[in-house]
Amino acid sequence: MRYVSTRGQAPAVGFADAVLGGLAPDGGLYVPEIWPTFSRQEIAGFAGQPYAKVAARVLGAFAGDEIATADVEAMCEEAYATFSHAAVVPLVQIAPQAFVAELFHGPSLAFKDVAMQLLARLYDHLLAGQGRTQTILCATSGDTGGAAVEAFRGSKSTRVVAMFPEGRISEVQRRFMTTAEEANIACVAVKGTFDDCQAILKDAMADKALRQAVDLAAVNSINFARIAAQAVYYFTTAVALGAPGREVSFVVPSGNFGDAFAGYVARRMGLPIGRIVVATNANDILARAFRTGRYSRGTVQPTISPAMDIQSASNFERLYFEAVEREATDTARAFEAFARAGVIDIPPRALSAMQAVFTGVAIDEADTRRTMVSTLNETGELIDPHTAVAVAALNRQAPDGVAVVLSTAHPAKFPEDVAKTCGVTPQLPRGAANLEGRPERFDRLPADADTIKAYVRAFAEG
Ligand SMILES: *Cc1c(COP(=O)(O)O)cnc(C)c1O
Repeated sequence: MRYVSTRGQAPAVGFADAVLGGLAPDGGLYVPEIWPTFSRQEIAGFAGQPYAKVAARVLGAFAGDEIATADVEAMCEEAYATFSHAAVVPLVQIAPQAFVAELFHGPSLAFKDVAMQLLARLYDHLLAGQGRTQTILCATSGDTGGAAVEAFRGSKSTRVVAMFPEGRISEVQRRFMTTAEEANIACVAVKGTFDDCQAILKDAMADKALRQAVDLAAVNSINFARIAAQAVYYFTTAVALGAPGREVSFVVPSGNFGDAFAGYVARRMGLPIGRIVVATNANDILARAFRTGRYSRGTVQPTISPAMDIQSASNFERLYFEAVEREATDTARAFEAFARAGVIDIPPRALSAMQAVFTGVAIDEADTRRTMVSTLNETGELIDPHTAVAVAALNRQAPDGVAVVLSTAHPAKFPEDVAKTCGVTPQLPRGAANLEGRPERFDRLPADADTIKAYVRAFAEG
């Protein structure tokens, strides 16, 4: 399986290089040259299988012959053994036609664990094979950092620098990163927004000298292996609800568009997905894009669903590339212009192609809070603000047939807002890391690419 860049100016690479490289050297994102597919029979065969088995099938389809099947299976087995629920991603029914898929049973209580636990094992496997040590620079809107630290701490072939926007993530989110004791982890509080952190990451990745000096890698959702790992729960949940004999729709709380794009990937692989509802908070760049055809950056507004406070959704480039029928020159032009001017007018045909699958819905804070309360009242389920954005979107724009809401964080990750809104303080699940009394360790830096690049270099060399 070969991977090509959405901008068409980088050579095609194999799975290992696409995973370890993160962003393509021309600034584009890697996508498989052709989408692997499963037959209806193969998909039907996923019913009743352990999650790790289905994960190995999906990941194996993307890894091709670069990793031995037995190794892929062992990695999936280990990755999902860290989850505290035997089903890994269990379903809870909240209405006659609506289910919640709980993606938060991993070590950092957010859906980022689903991909990151697997990614860390992939990295160690691939890097050990090449005798390399990489430096992973990570920009987090809250949960990626904690998931990355949980997954990579103590790794022998990687070190991690996790950047987060100071004051814009919850205390629990911060502590998942800053209380790690392992020497291969460094955390940086950036005086700026998540978009600033992401821009610094892009700047660092484009810096050839730095990339070489520290063997720089990115594990943000621009990394295709994460998308592949996230496609898995679309299969397991849809099959549990009757696919491929029945079409299932999904409602996805979205920020960087990795999660919703993974649904698109599952659909391209043959899973009969009806609609994918992209639910955003007030940071509604995606909702506006699908509605109006204009993908234009706004200013970031802090909300109670901070992991979605994003106004530039990296993975949208992958969808655009598909929607313009893989016209790389067009894609490069559009996203280079977006970096400069912050706007793309989606060509009408591409917009129709997107609208055939995606619906965008933006939910405000009041509706988010009302939905947390009504869900608790009607079902007894305490949901976190990110999940509530998606449940509210479902209530507003219910697709035909059965729908699965992706629940991306455990409510105990946002205890203050949940308690204030619902009057119930969510408890950390049994066995969750005890974060409270542990000392924190992080550095504060300005939102300046040169400063942070110097820090990364010093950490890697030091
Ligand atoms: C990362 C995250 C999201 C957004 O997912 P994307 O793949 O960036 O769209 C939603 N909810 C939570 C809790 C997250 O951590």
